[in-house]
Amino acid sequence: MSRTHRIAVVPGDGIGKETVPEGLRVLDAAARRFGFDLKLDHYDWSCETYQKTGRMMPEDGLEQLAQSDSIFLGAVGWPGVPDHISLWGLLIPIRRSFDQYISLRPCKLMPGTKSPLANRGPADIDFYVVRENTEGEYSSSGGRMFPGTEREFVTQDSVFTRHGVDRVLKYAFELAQTRPRKKVTSATKSNGITFTMPYWDERFAEMAKNYPGITTDQFHIDILCAHFVQHPDWFDVVVGSNLFGDILSDLGPAVAGSIGIAPSANINPEKKHPSMFEPVHGSAPDIAGKHICNPIGQIWSGAMMLEHLGEKEAADAILRAIEKLLAEGGPRTRDLGGQAGTADVGRALAEAVANGA
Ligand code: ATP
Ligand code: MG
Repeated sequence: MSRTHRIAVVPGDGIGKETVPEGLRVLDAAARRFGFDLKLDHYDWSCETYQKTGRMMPEDGLEQLAQSDSIFLGAVGWPGVPDHISLWGLLIPIRRSFDQYISLRPCKLMPGTKSPLANRGPADIDFYVVRENTEGEYSSSGGRMFPGTEREFVTQDSVFTRHGVDRVLKYAFELAQTRPRKKVTSATKSNGITFTMPYWDERFAEMAKNYPGITTDQFHIDILCAHFVQHPDWFDVVVGSNLFGDILSDLGPAVAGSIGIAPSANINPEKKHPSMFEPVHGSAPDIAGKHICNPIGQIWSGAMMLEHLGEKEAADAILRAIEKLLAEGGPRTRDLGGQAGTADVGRALAEAVANGA
């Protein structure tokens, strides 16, 4: 009996409709070669759906998704539909109800591509940003008093629970253990934020005791951002709270190079609920419909999905195919200085995976 993974496919908006089919093409090639089955459920939920029905997804949307092992997402968002609708109508409910408490972004400069940092090559930029994805500064708790008066004041609470902090720290240390350099860097700001951040630091030091083989360091978020730019080679696994992780998980892929290549994952590590895999980029309305967008971020996200599903060999093969294509001058889209269309890149990668990359 071959292994079967059930995947909810949500292309979403804009170039998501172009990148997801290429992602599926490569996943299909990997499934054939490595002997597993993908059972796909397609959902055409998007801002277009919202404009027609007043909802981003049907009322029982989450229950439908809950049937799957993983969610493969393109991009969500479109001009004219406010962010709070597209975010809070689809992405945030998925992250929260499936307890995807890890947001994971590899920041890796690929051979044959350029970092915006001068004189940096693939050996200098290869780290992960691990972001806490469920609590911290993005709690929905707070309030406004005396609105519109001189006495007006507004608060928003930061919520750091031992459970929430420990589980993201543990994930970061476990990830570092699989890496050659075995190092975890913590993002903090305990000189300015005097309750939650010292607590974060305390739990970090406590967790580190369980991992004697792992090197650790920590930086305040401001100087850490500077180090990302000036010393990206210092980092291996970088862990941060919801807000600090959010900042770093945009900065990290940016220093690593092209937005069209970067992948991301929202993970429930215990696999009690489906995890979600999507490229870092958005729906790119400026190039949508032209079939010129880069599908590599989507395809790499597919590789992360396979790794999460236990298909490590297949995931590695996809990664090797991407590296080889970029290093050896295979077809490239315009954002990487080439002339190829989206499907040319998808086909080349699918072929490489099928033929033993
Ligand atoms: P969002 O808020 O949804 O993240 P955004 O407008 O901030 O959207 P993107 O949609 O990622 O950001 O687009 C930013 C820029 O990068 C645009 O000019 C877009 O064309 C370009 N871009 C994004 N993704 C790709 C891709 N896969 N291939 C080529 N160019 C891309
Ligand atoms: Mg954006």
